[in-house]
Amino acid sequence: MKVVKFGGSSVASGAQLKKVTEILESDPERTVVVVSAPGKRTADDEKVTDLLIQLGESVDDNHMNGDIYEKVRNRFKEIIDDLDLSDRTLSEITNKIDEGIAMIRGGAANGIDALKACGEDGTALILSAFLSERKHNASYVHPKEAGIFLKDEPGGALVLEESFAHLYELRKKEGILVIPGFFGYTKEGKLITFSRGGSDITGSIVAAGVKADLYENFTDVDSVYCVNPALVKNPKEMKNLTYREMRELSYAGFSVFHDEALIPAFKEKIPVCIKNTNNPEAPGTMIVAEREDTCGDVVGIASDDGFVTIYVSKYLMNREIGFGRRLLHILEDEEVSFEHAPSGIDDMSIILREDVLPSHKEETVVKRIREELQVDTVEIERNMAMIMIVGEGMNQRVGVASKATRAFEKAGVNLEMINQGSSEVSMMFGIHEDGMEKSVQELYKMYFS
Ligand code: ASP
Repeated sequence: MKVVKFGGSSVASGAQLKKVTEILESDPERTVVVVSAPGKRTADDEKVTDLLIQLGESVDDNHMNGDIYEKVRNRFKEIIDDLDLSDRTLSEITNKIDEGIAMIRGGAANGIDALKACGEDGTALILSAFLSERKHNASYVHPKEAGIFLKDEPGGALVLEESFAHLYELRKKEGILVIPGFFGYTKEGKLITFSRGGSDITGSIVAAGVKADLYENFTDVDSVYCVNPALVKNPKEMKNLTYREMRELSYAGFSVFHDEALIPAFKEKIPVCIKNTNNPEAPGTMIVAEREDTCGDVVGIASDDGFVTIYVSKYLMNREIGFGRRLLHILEDEEVSFEHAPSGIDDMSIILREDVLPSHKEETVVKRIREELQVDTVEIERNMAMIMIVGEGMNQRVGVASKATRAFEKAGVNLEMINQGSSEVSMMFGIHEDGMEKSVQELYKMYFS
């Protein structure tokens, strides 16, 4: 049994949904399907989820942006017309959108989530109707009915353990099951969504719950590349990756797969295959627990900008018991999450994503660190980028870091921070954003040419 997830570009139009249907028809083991909301059809198109968010933000007691409402409705209408489905599906979808709008007007805290969920919900309704038209035994399964229960967390919901047992019950159902991705319910029955790109998470949770033999994640590339193709032309494809490698790579900028989506599949040891809806014959990239051939030291280079560093120094910090805890406690108090915290003898840096530290929070955090910890220096540096080299083969191998530092030297980029975890599966470098592209290109030459 395979769980198959189709991303936004795979369900962006009627033509794409026909390809999805052929992919399902070509393999009878593909019985559980998770879908995203319709994504972009062309580079300058709009994603339905983005439109729904804009729509939600425009809603007040008496008004809303009618143009955006029509845009969303038309996206669904076009798909429905292309697939020759009846208007009944369109009214079901518009009713749900209207319900979301009414929830926002009624002051429901999860009103925006309910509206956002209409994207994936609409796709699932359309695909199940289309499969039924083609004489398949297909049914739409609502996440509440599937038992996807979540915990409400700022920035994105987290799955509750009991969901997996509920999902296992889906094995008893016959035919093709179509589940909308991206959302679930709290124990109190409130609809909530995962963080953006979260349909991958639903797919992984469902695959783990039904104990699938394989989780196939269909997107629009033949495989995962070892570096961002926008930075390096025609980079090498990665055929096999371990969960740990993929987790590290997707955390640091690989947008093919949501970084939180691997954990459920990993826990159940379900292999994940990233495939292309537009070229389903290509073998794709397999993500597994262990990989036999280690393909050298580094398998991928990830990079991401938009980081900020809080640098703190205090003489004899190493002897001050509880300093690190008190520093992190200030962040906890101010509800700021951090990514990394490398430290030295008399100093410590905290690396955060820029969006968690808007300037009003920055002021408070800096003031508190200065006053409560009596530090010598506290400095904020914005516009930082993180570059990560990843590979199980780095473990115990001599000279991996020296290749990297040579690459940065060639790029003429100053290294502001180096961090290697004890797992030795990745090494991270902090630099100024300006040097990101050149550094990635030099690193690629060093490890892959
Ligand atoms: N539609 C949602 C988003 O755009 C979730 C997803 O596509 O995975 O973020």
